[in-house]
Amino acid sequence: MSETERSTQPSSVLDDDTRKSVPDAEPLAAPLDILVVDDDEASRAILEIAVTSYGHRCRTACDGQEAWELYQAEPAQVILSDWNMPRMDGAELCRRVRGASGHSYTYFIFMTSFADREHFLRGMAVGADDYQTKPVDLDELSARLHSAERVLSVYRSLADSNRTLRHDSERATAEARVDPLTGLPNRLRLNEDLEDVRANMQRFGDAYCVALCDIDNFKQFNDRFGHPSGDIALRSVAETLRRHLREVDMIYRYGGEEFLLVFAKQGAESATAALDRVRKEVAAAEIRILSGEVHSLTISAGLTAIRAPADVQAAIERADAALYRAKACGKNQVVSGQTHIRAEDPRALADIALGLAHVRLTLFRRGLRPQSLP
Ligand SMILES: [Mg+2]
Repeated sequence: MSETERSTQPSSVLDDDTRKSVPDAEPLAAPLDILVVDDDEASRAILEIAVTSYGHRCRTACDGQEAWELYQAEPAQVILSDWNMPRMDGAELCRRVRGASGHSYTYFIFMTSFADREHFLRGMAVGADDYQTKPVDLDELSARLHSAERVLSVYRSLADSNRTLRHDSERATAEARVDPLTGLPNRLRLNEDLEDVRANMQRFGDAYCVALCDIDNFKQFNDRFGHPSGDIALRSVAETLRRHLREVDMIYRYGGEEFLLVFAKQGAESATAALDRVRKEVAAAEIRILSGEVHSLTISAGLTAIRAPADVQAAIERADAALYRAKACGKNQVVSGQTHIRAEDPRALADIALGLAHVRLTLFRRGLRPQSLP
């Protein structure tokens, strides 16, 4: 007897006895979206009546191909599928459902008259969760759907936990890259962004400048007004920098009262002009400290163009040296690292001496003894 012939037998008894045989199901946690797939019309009708009487939602398809199209339009939580069907059989449907990604788990139950061991093993091998032979025992079906509910509920809570973990991990990753006081990105983020700067210079030939800014006399400010007011001042300067630079420019809290700025797609001349405008804004900004008094602070800055992708670190060191000159030359000013220093200029000579002092200090901090330097 063929599968098709046998499969219609239990389904054809769609009388009161059959309806009565649908067992009283336990209360549902939530109705399931069930897709019934069978080329036998009576089998489909029996299963549809049964699962809807259990409180589930039901769609039907007359073969694997139609089921696959319905599933792609809207995935089902449970598929009850016949095996032997025209166009696409149940095994191929199961394989495709298992291969589909991007949505929650689908519990797949074969409902087939193939009662032999081979078909059972093949069915489980292509990804079925369960296997029921025809004629369909509705008590068994009810029990299997309860099992499906439990499994799907575990999958749901695993998916929820994964989402929470992913969300927490993304938040922790983002938080680790932000300075909590000023809300500016920190050095960790800077190091990552500098990789992008190198890549953009390499691929697109973009021009970048880097600047180091330092709040003038910040230690005295802290000593005089206390650290909480110092924090207010730091936030205020950070906010002024952020407000008066372009969206594409990047600002980082580099150290205590130091900020590192990266000017994108800009040469040294226009970046220096932009930075000088920001310097004036900082000097003009009113800082209301804890006592209610209003004060202002200034910044000194050193700026230089990044000459090549490999020059990023050296450019930061040049910007640091230029900042040192800005401090030495009276503070509240911007010094460009590209400025040509004339040897006969006494101020430039003083700058060179200060620059060398800075180099010596840097080497000393790194544990080197620069004996050969003048
Ligand atoms: Mg069939």
